[in-house]
Amino acid sequence: MSNIVAIVGRPNVGKSTLYNRLTETRKAIVDDFSGVTRDRHYGVSEWTDHQFTVIDTGGYVANSADIFEAAIREQVEIAIEEASVILFMVDVTTGITDLDDEIATMLRKSKKPVFVVVNKLDNNALLSDATEFYSLGLGEIYSISSMTGSGTGELLDEVVKHFDDEVLEENTRPKYAIVGRPNVGKSSIINSLIGKDRNIVTPIAGTTRDSIHIHYNQYGHDFMLIDTAGMRKKTKVKENIEFYSVMRTIKALEEADVIILMIDAVEGIESQDINIFHLAEKNKKGIMVVVNKWDLIEKNNKTVKVFEEMIREKIAPFTDVPIVFTSVTEKQRVLKVIDVANQVYQNRARKIATSKLNEVMLPIIENYPPPSIKGKYVKIKYITQIAGSSPMFAFFCNLPQYVKEPYYRFIENKLRENFDFSGAPVQVWFRQK
Ligand code: GDP
Ligand code: GDP
Repeated sequence: MSNIVAIVGRPNVGKSTLYNRLTETRKAIVDDFSGVTRDRHYGVSEWTDHQFTVIDTGGYVANSADIFEAAIREQVEIAIEEASVILFMVDVTTGITDLDDEIATMLRKSKKPVFVVVNKLDNNALLSDATEFYSLGLGEIYSISSMTGSGTGELLDEVVKHFDDEVLEENTRPKYAIVGRPNVGKSSIINSLIGKDRNIVTPIAGTTRDSIHIHYNQYGHDFMLIDTAGMRKKTKVKENIEFYSVMRTIKALEEADVIILMIDAVEGIESQDINIFHLAEKNKKGIMVVVNKWDLIEKNNKTVKVFEEMIREKIAPFTDVPIVFTSVTEKQRVLKVIDVANQVYQNRARKIATSKLNEVMLPIIENYPPPSIKGKYVKIKYITQIAGSSPMFAFFCNLPQYVKEPYYRFIENKLRENFDFSGAPVQVWFRQK
């Protein structure tokens, strides 16, 4: 079995209490290997449809302080090597100790998913105390009470997402929404992708179609298309067509992982299209541009470049966005749209290992630190990606309030230069350490 959850942390934080709860045994199962002086506690646990093994690394007891620290370090190392998910348990009643900090430093370098589990939150009065643990630099924190079991469900909901399960659920398929003004070619591209057995393409705006989600599974691709062209409603009032289409676009935008914004090469990009960029950004979605009807443009070898520059100028500051030139009627680059949408989907889901992130970004920051204000210098200590559906990065520093907007931009640009986030939103936060 490949789904192993390791609980690490210093003594008395409540590891074995959680372990017992997860495995529903009062007594930990002790697996005694000959020649191994340390006991390991293994147990099988289940959550929703997932079965996994839990390891309580707290089975080691030593008297000498040096051996003890070395043991903890080793436990964490083993957990990093062997586990699929690491639960780093800390205690809200004691706050962050030196040993917690030391463990956090090791875990930040690991490539495994790490969950900071703040234990002993037996009542909500302690909730605000728990936020202290964000400064461990390991992203999201999960507040629980091992004793009462509160918060463990929410924790496990997140943990199981990191498992290697064979069964892919329906909602794990990427969702791509094709949006754009009327007549840009949305219906045409959908029909071109899914074949002629699918209904009418018509140049008349306002045609009703009922299909909203289309399952596409061909040529090694498997995703859902959200068809906003198929969601038109016949309305008498012109403004309502617009309003309705905006409403549906917003909904499609909320549902989708990647927005495929289609524009007409002849008409160019307009303010409604720019609004889509704002909406996509607000909703933290991926986005790409398709310039359709490319067959209608008279071209030379500079035309693509000129168009790209024109579009990027209009969509600024959202410039790190893929642009594909298509002709649906000439069947040019239709499948490329799907390849690029897949790429944006992956860019949005991209996770950068903490070690890599710090290795790349810290030297950049050292060469170009935030400008000092009134003689005060911002010192950025480390960087961590925060768990979420889109890339978010926390830069831990002494004086986050002194970091100004241009530096946020600079950091975002450097992240984009060094890692592929094309089409994906990137959020940067400076936080107190
Ligand atoms: P570990 O083995 O060192 O990880 O810690 P234990 O599971 O043995 O727990 C240490 C102590 O903390 C024990 O006295 C537990 O009863 C207590 N403890 C564990 N979880 C909780 C909790 O959620 N709330 C409170 N108040 N005490 C807890
Ligand atoms: P929608 O309103 O965005 O769904 O646009 P449609 O798919 O209904 O297309 C509107 C019109 O543009 C139709 O007459 C299509 O045949 C035409 N059209 C679509 N794609 C292209 C293209 O790549 N080149 C040309 N020349 N016409 C196209």
